[in-house]
Amino acid sequence: MFKAILLSKTDGGFDAKVADLDDKDLTEGDVAIRVEYSTVNYKDGLAIANKSPIVRRWPMVAGIDGAGVVEQSAHPRWKKGDRVVLNGWGVGETHWGCLAQKARLKGDWLVPLPKAFSTKQAMAIGTAGYTAMLCVLALEKQGVTPDKGEVLVTGASGGVGGVAIAILSKLGYTVIASTGRTNEAGYLKELGASSIIDRNELSKPGGPLAKERWAGAVDAVGSHTLANVCAGLKYGGAVAACGLAQGMDFPATVIPFILRAVTLTGVDSVMCPMERRLEAWSRLAKDLDPVKLDRITTVVKLSEAIPRARDILAGKVRGRVVVDVNA
Ligand code: NDP
Repeated sequence: MFKAILLSKTDGGFDAKVADLDDKDLTEGDVAIRVEYSTVNYKDGLAIANKSPIVRRWPMVAGIDGAGVVEQSAHPRWKKGDRVVLNGWGVGETHWGCLAQKARLKGDWLVPLPKAFSTKQAMAIGTAGYTAMLCVLALEKQGVTPDKGEVLVTGASGGVGGVAIAILSKLGYTVIASTGRTNEAGYLKELGASSIIDRNELSKPGGPLAKERWAGAVDAVGSHTLANVCAGLKYGGAVAACGLAQGMDFPATVIPFILRAVTLTGVDSVMCPMERRLEAWSRLAKDLDPVKLDRITTVVKLSEAIPRARDILAGKVRGRVVVDVNA
């Protein structure tokens, strides 16, 4: 038996609770994992609060991320005792997830835990942090180097935002943090932001073109914010778009693309190919300061994942929430 956050359809509608489950009910997979830590990402918030059709198989064990130790493996790449990380691949959506003490997963989905990190630190990074790294890799691919100018990070007090700021500042970029929590300016500067702007500057409908302000951007927010980010990109700049915290719409014009040759590059973590994941995790081990990672992390026990899920949707979570599934 093991404990997990179980999401179920009920006569009354929906239920999320800590449940005792039987190993034999675990979904199919060739590697059995003893999970040590999981986390609450924005998507976990949506699933646990049943706010969006994230879950597509019922009942579901929540948790799109996990880090732990292989207990049993029929996969050639993994053996008992290996330390592994799981991000995405539909886990917590169509396959039982990692907000649980045990998980059965496909070996092809697993990444070896980088030596630089403990399982707890890997979950402090989680999908949010690994996505932040994918965004930085995307900007690098578009030629956004520190000498080109400032880089904007939206949703700065959130998980993607915090890790993006920490990585970019370590790489020598000058980072502008956009936040609705300007009272968190001290925290954002500790992470490496050089300046802070109020997200209201970007969240309302704007013109097709604005003053050229940033050479690059990591956007976790979408909607008018992303449109205004594009409008404010310098000539030849690029924005990596990964999120929809403000909304999934994109009310923009083509003007920044055709007059300033800017690039909008999409970032997906869920089905990201293994080669790119390995690159992202190895760059995280090199380019993310573990002291800053600690600064953004709060650790909670399994049962607290449920209220923290509601908090993340309400924009009340700062940085990253790690879940100790055995506490
Ligand atoms: P968080 O909730 O930790 O951070 C989101 C931040 O966005 C908040 O902290 C807040 O920052 C800002 N925000 C919230 N609501 C609004 C709003 N209405 N208008 C403008 N800004 C807002 O989430 P994550 O960092 O984990 O994820 C961020 C986004 O990225 C989510 O939409 C998530 O679904 C997406 N995502 C996508 C992935 C992919 O594969 N493409 C992977 C991971 C995440 P502040 O208070 O500083 O303004």
